[in-house]
Amino acid sequence: MDVSEDDLLAAIRKVLAGAVDGVVVDVGDDAAVVRPGSGDLVLTTDALVEGTHFDRSLTTPRDLGAKAISVNVSDVAAMGGSPRHVLCAMTLSDDIDGAWVMELLGGMREACDAYACSLVGGNLARGSEVTLAVTVIGEVARGRAVTRAGARPGDVIVVTGELGSAAAGRRIRATQHRFDEGDLASIRRAERPTARVAEGQLLAGHGATAMIDISDGLGLDLKRLCSESGVGARVRIGAVPLGSRATLEEALGGGEDYELLATLPSEAAAVAVASAIDEAGVVRLRTIGEVLAGADLFQVDSDGAEEPLDPTGWDHFQ
Ligand SMILES: [Mg+2]
Repeated sequence: MDVSEDDLLAAIRKVLAGAVDGVVVDVGDDAAVVRPGSGDLVLTTDALVEGTHFDRSLTTPRDLGAKAISVNVSDVAAMGGSPRHVLCAMTLSDDIDGAWVMELLGGMREACDAYACSLVGGNLARGSEVTLAVTVIGEVARGRAVTRAGARPGDVIVVTGELGSAAAGRRIRATQHRFDEGDLASIRRAERPTARVAEGQLLAGHGATAMIDISDGLGLDLKRLCSESGVGARVRIGAVPLGSRATLEEALGGGEDYELLATLPSEAAAVAVASAIDEAGVVRLRTIGEVLAGADLFQVDSDGAEEPLDPTGWDHFQ
């Protein structure tokens, strides 16, 4: 490290400066002090570990910082909540310089600004590799958090956005030497995912019975939701929205899309889908199947054939 810890902390305070609602004491004191609102608190934490979750030679510190925030905010979004405050404990290896840390914090700040939350504290330590352990504290209206456990037979299954772009981006970057615009958009999606906070609140507001963010692939995350709810499901493969460069396998099993998967009563889903149209006229929500009694998962292919859906068969991208 080319700067002292105190100099680094002083620089970090400058990057993070700015008064935010609800923050009484922010970065630089022994602990942060925040004033909760009237809702329930939503707490989540997740660590990104060098060598396991990222390769420093393949990502910029700015993108990495933003991603560390987004993957945690995505879990708050999946409860129907909005993020408020962020803590980050990081370990830095000896070959990291001050400029890299400033870029990382800059990316965290950009993401926090985009989600209207604030980084209020953290910790720096030396380690053999870089790890970023982020905690996000969010808020949801009292008693209104949407869990994984409320799906009921007859509900329809919806997903936000498009699936598979992050996996397609990783594949394209590893296998191609030239990239067109669609390739670059997919690579961007892998490096800089967006948490679907507004969509999560829209789904919660329309009566979502269960919700989960798609971090490990549609198949695995649908299976997790169904097992928490004690239900089965049928997915129409032809209805799954594919990213522009994604294969079906990447859309079903690729992971790291950070879109939301939710279940709703069918009339409520129709209203939600009709209201989830973005400025460009693109529908941001699609119905891909329905919830069944029992515990079995099925997929219906485009020719109408129904077969068991095997999420583990989609797991080879992990
Ligand atoms: Mg999650």
